[in-house]
Amino acid sequence: MLVDRVGLWYSVLVARYGKVGGRLELGGRSCSSWWREVGRIRDGDGGVGGSWFGDSVRRKVGDGTDTLFWQHWWCGRAPLRELFPRLFDLAMNKDISVANMFSLRLLRGGEGWSWRRRRRLWAWEEVLLEECRALLLDVSLFPNISDSWVWLPDTIGGFTVRGAYKVLTATVNPNRDSALDLVWHHQVPLKISIFAWRLIRDRLPTRANLAACGILQLDTALCVAGCGMIETADHLFLSCLSFAVLWEQVRHWIGCVGVDSNTISHHFVQFTSFSGFGKVRRSFLQLLWLLTSWVIWNERNIRLFKNVITEVPRLLDKIKLLSLAWLKAKNATFVLELRCGGQVLWFVWALANHRRLFPLDFVTVCSLCFVVSGLLAHLVLRD
Ligand SMILES: [Zn+2]
Repeated sequence: MLVDRVGLWYSVLVARYGKVGGRLELGGRSCSSWWREVGRIRDGDGGVGGSWFGDSVRRKVGDGTDTLFWQHWWCGRAPLRELFPRLFDLAMNKDISVANMFSLRLLRGGEGWSWRRRRRLWAWEEVLLEECRALLLDVSLFPNISDSWVWLPDTIGGFTVRGAYKVLTATVNPNRDSALDLVWHHQVPLKISIFAWRLIRDRLPTRANLAACGILQLDTALCVAGCGMIETADHLFLSCLSFAVLWEQVRHWIGCVGVDSNTISHHFVQFTSFSGFGKVRRSFLQLLWLLTSWVIWNERNIRLFKNVITEVPRLLDKIKLLSLAWLKAKNATFVLELRCGGQVLWFVWALANHRRLFPLDFVTVCSLCFVVSGLLAHLVLRD
């Protein structure tokens, strides 16, 4: 989308959302959640890694016609609007291209510098302008070369999904604080939030931790699933084939596609940030992560102390029922699941504080309550 500006995909987005100053518009609240998420990544607005994408791409200026003077990062250590916010604020044309700016002459009094309300600059603003001009002294345009993007992590090979994944997993800091913030959820029992808090801080009595304290010998600190690996929290919850498959099942159930991280705190933050979801659904994913971790830990304890193994589909059913019970307990949200041709369709139907998702009148709400109750009864009886 950044590079292939004559491609069909780009044309579709321009037709659907419009373009202002060379940048595709987000399209306000009416745009798809997918497109909003792409916009958030472009603008570095929250999400995993913050402005990782904007920090990793830079304009390489050729003739300067397709590069925005103030908005793009093409000169200096950041976009000029960030280096000189006061000048950007005063600039009359904030979407002017580099080529136009240079053609209007950048010297003192050049037409390129036109300010709002056509007022004279204060002395300190003149100093800023001189600094900006000094930055541009070494810049030369190349008339027969188009502007292009440079993917800074790999300037030769260019952007790849694998490269972006490496950037995210290598540069995003451990996120432990972000993950610790996520353990508290008003619809999750306190004991499970405390359990998650201990899990993220690696304070659970896993066999590896017991061995570290000298309670177990290291050669007896093996995974309860019999896979032969040391039972660390990361292994037990994320890597062990017997338990990790539950995350796949949960993601399949809610229709999320993604790559699981190998560390607990990353995994938690990443899971709750699956693309395309709004605040309410992220809250539900947060609840789901806490619940799934709790179910895995319980299953581990039952295997260890009672020598009973529960199959993964049964664990998934347990997650479905418990999540519903927690949501119902707070009288906030019902979750209705319909199976259709092997696909799982989700309807998060919001009452109370979540009604803005699906604003329904009272009679419809009552009717749906009735339908949901019937389906739940069916689900429980089936077990
Ligand atoms: Zn294992």
